[in-house]
Amino acid sequence: MPKNILSVENLNGGYEVFVGRRRVFVHAVDDVTFSLHNNEVLGVAGESGCGKSTLAKMIYGAIIPPLLVKGGSISITTKGGEVLNINKLSIDEVRRKIWWIEISYIPQNSMNVLNPLKRIKDQFIDVFRYHGIKMDKTETVEHLRDTLTTLGLPPEVINAYPHQLSGGMRQRVVIALSLVFNPRIILADEPTTAVDVVTQRTILSLLKEWRENNKSSLVLISHDMSVHAYMDDRIAIMYAGNVVELGSSLDIFKEPLHPYTRALIESLIRKGDKSIRKGLAGQPPDLINPPPGCRFHPRCPYVMNICRSEEPVTTFLDNDRYVRCWLYTSSR
Ligand code: SF4
Repeated sequence: MPKNILSVENLNGGYEVFVGRRRVFVHAVDDVTFSLHNNEVLGVAGESGCGKSTLAKMIYGAIIPPLLVKGGSISITTKGGEVLNINKLSIDEVRRKIWWIEISYIPQNSMNVLNPLKRIKDQFIDVFRYHGIKMDKTETVEHLRDTLTTLGLPPEVINAYPHQLSGGMRQRVVIALSLVFNPRIILADEPTTAVDVVTQRTILSLLKEWRENNKSSLVLISHDMSVHAYMDDRIAIMYAGNVVELGSSLDIFKEPLHPYTRALIESLIRKGDKSIRKGLAGQPPDLINPPPGCRFHPRCPYVMNICRSEEPVTTFLDNDRYVRCWLYTSSR
């Protein structure tokens, strides 16, 4: 059995916001359960607005209003073997015990998070200081050079300002910053959407290699199924806040079960196939008032009566594969 380093159980949450003068709740993550194994890539796939980034923020412990966790748990086994319930920690505890050291987060459009007024070297040194890590300056610079070189960057980058680097280089610098303390878990939220296809493949390959060498686990969030096909060991498919299917990458691409997963895979462009790809009609639902029953039912070609009124139960095919759809439930 693979060892789990992170467990998410029945997680519920979202954003409390005002629409006009009315306080409403956006149900961005609904009853999500999965585990992250040691030394694996777990992809989280789905269209924009299906809750992927919110789930990443919750796992990272960045649970700051208007983001709220309403139920469930997120627990991590730390490098020292301590089990911490992330959603029960204060934000100060999360900063001290989790961020960068246990879990690093590469946010969307992360190349823009660099301070334009500071050299790359000084931005790294700030991170070391923030965590109270005492290394002498020469040692720090050596460590930084090594990390940057691992990500295919020339060592001179250390003295550059962000505007002197291309978008792809800035993206790699941010990834290097996230890896500098050798975290056990890397959360990468659309890490390559802002770069061209060639740079995307280079960055993904470097991230893959670094993760394998350092035996970390990667949670890779992307709407792009071709990225998942290249990177993932397992995939969780999210729709409207629910994980609707989870399984090994091989199984999911070979035999997708949930109608939404099938639609995502059918929309992939395949080498040599010139047929017009079928897109999925309609839009993900409004998460303030999600549809009753199965949240996918207004778009599902297999919809049945029960789907319109009752939430599907999760059917486990084995320990590591489940689907949430009435088509696979014998008791319907
Ligand atoms: Fe479609 Fe029903 Fe399955 Fe939902 S539960 S995906 S509507 S068949």
